[in-house]
This record gives sequence, C-alpha cells and structure tokens, in this order.
Amino acid sequence: MKPIRTELLIIGGGVVGAAIARALSRYQLQVALVEKEVDVAFGASKANSGIVHSGIHDRPGSLKAQLCVRGNQLFPQLVEELAVLYKKNGQLIVARNAEELPLLDELLAQGRTNGVTGIAWVNQEDLHKLEPNLAPSLCRGLLVEAAGIVVPFDLVQALMENAVANGVQLKLGRRVVKIEVVNDEFIVYTNHEPIIAKTVINAAGLGAGEVAALIGDDSIQIQPRQGEEYILDRQLEGLVLRTIFPLPTSTSKGILIIPTVEGNIMLGPTAHSVDFTTDRGTSLRGWQEVYQMAQVLVPGVPDNAVIASFAGVRASVPANDFIIGPSPVSPGFINVAGIDSPGLTAAPAIAEYVVALLKEAGRLGKEKRDFNPRRTVLRPSRLNLQAWNGLIRNEPAYGQLVCRCEQISAAEIKAAIKRGATTLDGIKLRTRAGMGRCQGGFCSPHLIMLLSSELGLPPWQITKNGPGSELLAGPLRGKTVANLEEGGHEEKCVDPESI
Ligand SMILES: Cc1cc2nc3c(=O)[nH]c(=O)nc-3n(C[C@H](O)[C@H](O)[C@H](O)COP(=O)(O)OP(=O)(O)OC[C@H]3O[C@@H](n4cnc5c(N)ncnc54)[C@H](O)[C@@H]3O)c2cc1C
Repeated sequence: MKPIRTELLIIGGGVVGAAIARALSRYQLQVALVEKEVDVAFGASKANSGIVHSGIHDRPGSLKAQLCVRGNQLFPQLVEELAVLYKKNGQLIVARNAEELPLLDELLAQGRTNGVTGIAWVNQEDLHKLEPNLAPSLCRGLLVEAAGIVVPFDLVQALMENAVANGVQLKLGRRVVKIEVVNDEFIVYTNHEPIIAKTVINAAGLGAGEVAALIGDDSIQIQPRQGEEYILDRQLEGLVLRTIFPLPTSTSKGILIIPTVEGNIMLGPTAHSVDFTTDRGTSLRGWQEVYQMAQVLVPGVPDNAVIASFAGVRASVPANDFIIGPSPVSPGFINVAGIDSPGLTAAPAIAEYVVALLKEAGRLGKEKRDFNPRRTVLRPSRLNLQAWNGLIRNEPAYGQLVCRCEQISAAEIKAAIKRGATTLDGIKLRTRAGMGRCQGGFCSPHLIMLLSSELGLPPWQITKNGPGSELLAGPLRGKTVANLEEGGHEEKCVDPESI
C-alpha cells in the first residue's frame, strides 16, 4: 500500500493523544493520529472515574503533581471552548476516625506544596450539613473546591473533532506493528498503509511499552492495574453532591462515591494488578469490595441499584510517575507513557508540556492564524421544551425518541454518525443512547438499523465496538427485516442471494 507522509505522527487516540493532536493543530505542522480501534476513546479514556482531580493526592515534585494541578486549571476554558460536559463539584476527603486525622493533615500539607488552592477543613457538624447522607461517624474532612467531574469520552471526542476540524488527519483501525528508522525519519507500519513521519509521539497507553520496543527502546515497563466501577440508577441523583474520598491507600486514591455529570452515582474504582492489559471484567469480589467501602462512607447506598459496571486498566509504571520526553534511543520519538491516574485531568497540561518540548527541539511550525478553538454540539434533552419543539418543527427526527431512558432522538443519532460514530458504542459514547436504565435493551435494534441505513451497510455488519463484535449473525433465508427506521411497521424483504 502507498505510504502516507506527515511531519508528525501520534500513536494512540485516547485523551492524551487527542489532547496533543488538538494542541498541535494550532501550529503550521502536518499532524496525523493513528488508533488501533475503530473509534477514539475506546481505551482507558472511556473507562475511568471521570474526576478532574485537584492534585492534592500526588507526590510533590512529581510530573503527576505538576501536570495534574496545571491540567485542573486548564479545564474551565477547555470545556467551555469545546462544549464538553463538566461540573466543578468539589471533592470531600473524609477521616473515619481520630487515627486518620494526622493523614488528613499530611494530605493538606501535600496539596498546598503542590499549589492546590481552596482547601478547607470541615468539622463533623459541617460535614453533615454539606452532605447529609454521609455516615454520622465520619469525624472530619477536607473540602477541595478545585476538583470537578467530566464526561471523559465526551472530552476525547471533542478534542479529536476539534483537532480534525483544524487539519489533523485521523486514521482509525490502524494498529502500529513495526517501526523502521531511516535517515532520521520513521516508517511506521500499520495493518493498513505505512506512515512516514519526522517526529513520532507514543501515546499508546497500555501499548506504550510495546510501541517503544518497536524502535528498540525497552525503557517503558507497563504494569497494568485494573479498576472496577459500578454505575447506579439515576433515581439516586443527589445522594452526594461532591465526590467523596476516603483517605488514600498506598496504591490508589481509594474507593470513592462519584456523582457523574449526567446525574448517576458511580462507586469505585478498585485497584488491582492484572497480568493482561485486556483484563476488563468486573467480579463479585470487586463489587463486594466497592460496596463495603461505599457503605462506610454513605450507609444508605442501596445494594440493588447498579445499572451497569465496567473495568478500566491503568497503564502504571514502576516509578509511579508520568514518563514524558524523547526516547533514549531516538530524539524524534517522544514517549508519553505511564499515564495512569490522574491522566484524564492532566491531559491538557501533558499536551502543553509536549508542545513546549517540540518547540525547544525545533520540531514545531509557527502558530496558525485560522485556528478555531471551538466545537459546537446540540443536546436537545438539555433544552427547555419550547426550544426542543422549535427544533422538531424544523427537523421532525428531533421528536423521534430512539433511546427512551436518556431521551435521545433519531436526529442526534444521525448527527453522531456524521461526527464519526460507526458502532453502537460509538453512538453510546457520543449521545448516551443505551446508557440508561434499560442499558440498550430498547434502543439497540433501532440503533443498528439507523447505523445500517446511514452507513449503507447491511445490519449484520454493524458491530458493538469493531470487527468481531457483530450483533447479528446474518440474514434469515427468505425472511424479512423490520424497517425500524420507519417506525417498526413496514417490513422490507431481504433476498439473501442479492447480498
Ligand atoms: C479505573 C480507572 C479510573 C480512573 N479515574 C481517573 C479519574 O477519575 N481522573 C483522572 O484524571 N484519571 C483517571 N484515570 C486515568 C485515566 O483514565 C488515564 O490516565 C487516561 O485515560 C490515559 O489516557 P491515554 O490516552 O494515555 O490512554 P488510552 O485512553 O488507553 O489511549 C491509548 C490508545 O492507544 C491505542 N493503542 C495502543 N497500542 C496501539 C498501537 N500499537 N497502534 C495504534 N494504537 C494503539 C489504544 O487503543 C488506545 O486507544 C483512571 C483510570 C482507570 C483505569
């Protein structure tokens, strides 16, 4: 296949790769991004707690502390420019007993050293005024105003859409399998065409060690650490308003109670080392661990309200800090690795850091005059009824609800497909269709038919998240397929011989 030429290639379409792509799209530089999955945000960047951390938990002097605090500061402007779903709801770190109080003191000192502002002590009485559902036995807390919550996949898609709108080439479904270094250029082989680039950014998350090894760089040892999360029914909205943290453990920030931007409460995550980067299953043991801690913090949390669960895998490294810089093997190959928590928060600051590195190395063009920092997206369910009715008058498909739980219309599904969704998960992450109480039980067949008609593919080629996850086995010989797009009444004959 004919190679593609670009000046800079990013490997990995998670929040880090997308943030770097968007930051570089401000410059006069040809940038391409390759992702092995059929969509962006299919890795750790979709399966996390969605917290915009304050930076209080990170070791002073570490890159994590520096970039988490900076990332947190960059969020308000970023989410405003990109119309990303975000809320600055604050975090409350609570001590369960008097023995834990000195640890809370240490955390406060650490936060101040890291430059976190707006940290305040909360006594027992005020703790329960702020969050009435907290366990009465919790004795003291730290309120950190800077922390927030974000819809993580919305952030990745917004970053990537904006990067593409500003000229970045996005190449999905391309796994990097081999890299050759020839005359200071990289020939990056994928399962499709090779890509030739002067600079390569390795933002491959769990795959960063393997990708670096392709140029003979063995400096990155990924130690996958899995985290299970449990999403509760939206009926529990308001159980807590702030993100509730216990004291951290030696391996994690602890098991948390997280209000999400969309109103669900989420419990988790666990933190356990796993052997495989593909280990994404949840378990009874994980649920018991999460529920036990959740009950200690909020005794009224019910045990029968889970509507979905998932596990994400952190790309941790032995030094427990981000690894960002030129590879010891080649100065044009920049590793951005070991990006475990708080990588989501730090992503905009990581991008800023990488831009500074490239500038210093003379690998960056001038700033463009026509860079457009904005993305717009229409979310009818957030409008008032009058405005929504106005939309329906112009485009009746805004009144055709496909996902009843989340109130998502056919018009939004079609718009999501135009924005790049090619799978059920792609639609779900762009619109929330399938994320409600019935978890896609009602809307999945409708989504399959909409994808089929919009993409011009037969329904049995529509997948959940890429090849191998087809939902239908194939056409039934001589049988019919309901034309769901037209309301599920009309039936179309499918002649298998014509396919
Ligand atoms: C359970 C859990 C909870 C977390 N909670 C938070 C939180 O609340 N706040 C926070 O700030 N952080 C949190 N994090 C951390 C955060 O999710 C990660 O730091 C962040 O998503 C990492 O982004 P990334 O782009 O580096 O990785 P990814 O999102 O994994 O992206 C890497 C991409 O590279 C692609 N790739 C890999 N190999 C190749 C290859 N050979 N060729 C092409 N593409 C390739 C992958 O398919 C993937 O899409 C959490 C993580 C987990 C697991």
